[in-house]
Amino acid sequence: MLKEISEQTKEFKNKLETFMETEIYPNEKKYEEQLSEREQRWHIPPIMEELKAKAKDQGLWNLFIPDKEYGPGLTNYEYAYLCEIMGRSLIAPEVFNCNAPDTGNMEVLMKFGTEVHKDKWLKPLLNGEIRSCFSMTEPDVASSDATNIQSSIVRDGDEYVINAKKWWSSGAMDPRCKIAIVMGKTDPNAARHEQQSMILVPFDTEGVELKRHLPVYGFDHAPHGHSEVHYNNVRVPASNLLYEEGKGFEIAQSRLGPGRIHHCMRAIGAAERALDLLCERADKREAFGSKLADKGVIREVIANARVKIEQARLLTLHAAHKIDTEGAKAARKEIAMIKIAAPRTSIEVIDEAVQVFGAAGVTEDFPLAEHWANARTLRIVDGPDQVHLRDIGRLELREKFGKREEKQH
Ligand SMILES: Cc1cc2nc3c(=O)[nH]c(=O)nc-3n(C[C@H](O)[C@H](O)[C@H](O)COP(=O)(O)OP(=O)(O)OC[C@H]3O[C@@H](n4cnc5c(N)ncnc54)[C@H](O)[C@@H]3O)c2cc1C
Repeated sequence: MLKEISEQTKEFKNKLETFMETEIYPNEKKYEEQLSEREQRWHIPPIMEELKAKAKDQGLWNLFIPDKEYGPGLTNYEYAYLCEIMGRSLIAPEVFNCNAPDTGNMEVLMKFGTEVHKDKWLKPLLNGEIRSCFSMTEPDVASSDATNIQSSIVRDGDEYVINAKKWWSSGAMDPRCKIAIVMGKTDPNAARHEQQSMILVPFDTEGVELKRHLPVYGFDHAPHGHSEVHYNNVRVPASNLLYEEGKGFEIAQSRLGPGRIHHCMRAIGAAERALDLLCERADKREAFGSKLADKGVIREVIANARVKIEQARLLTLHAAHKIDTEGAKAARKEIAMIKIAAPRTSIEVIDEAVQVFGAAGVTEDFPLAEHWANARTLRIVDGPDQVHLRDIGRLELREKFGKREEKQH
């Protein structure tokens, strides 16, 4: 049986749904138009700041933070209901200051930042005044295995010197991006999982070079964008190191736990929106003498989509509940399972919606194409499918036969 959500969460849910109907959907086109008004799209459409102010005013702000010191203190289970609603629109998460990668970066700063880090970086992030990026992935090595990360972070007196070639740093193109969390090796000779550290790099530091922008299936994701970033002999104070040398993996794990399921929650919201659009279109459009909605094959598509979405949602809620009650480590199989199921469901449902829209589905007149491209990346980000499948298989066998020597990675 599903656990009841609190009155507070119900209230957030109602407010959020109303906000989506009255403020988000009607302004999606405006946001795009304002972005395209200038020759280059790397600027903030004024409607975004207007919407953020309204959301903040209504208390729909930083809902992802379980810690009461910084946010409303919702559990992962409760937040799942809200995050799904935000996932219905690609512009919504930022409006509520609940967008990746800032959410994960804020979590890192809350957990591992010093008072100085918090004052300088966490506060403006919590207020939505600046943005941040997370630089872990490198073009030259298989970064799904983070032990491969080659970047160097070398201590030199009161400073660290960073040399790193990173790519897919999401948000790096945003003119408001002021801080990066960079992962690299402080000790290449330490034990495999103790070589890496994380360090804060203010984006205006000399040597930080935005090398090129990386579109996703042709979508620029402006004004945030993903970028190849090179850190060339970048010097920062030694106090910018997060937690301790050699703790990069530990920080990455804690960052990825909740972040992974946030992606899944949003993916379900995107699928639900696609199904809404599919049904509306099928109910309006006629071909070969009847509405699409009255044709058996289309009803089967609708029915299958509903079945898949419900399955994925229940698994997400189950994973979220397990994180809340037993911790992220105990829930790692559930997190891996939903990281497999939710993106696939989302991709399949959006793809069926595109099909029902016909040629219109692949245009930018409707949000389906961009949602599809976004959902497709979720099978790669935060651990590609194969890594999660490996973990699920390993845990399943361990549960059945006990721990055994692992030869295959
Ligand atoms: C839109 C987008 C946003 C991103 N944002 C960020 C960001 O903000 N910061 C950041 O640091 N990175 C980001 N990334 C990068 C992302 O996290 C990496 O792409 C991901 O971790 C995979 O690393 P890789 O691309 O090096 O793939 P590789 O490690 O080269 O893996 C390639 C493929 O190898 C296969 N494979 C890997 N391991 C196994 C295994 N054990 N068994 C069998 N097959 C396997 C899988 O099919 C996998 O997809 C982003 C990527 C995208 C597309």
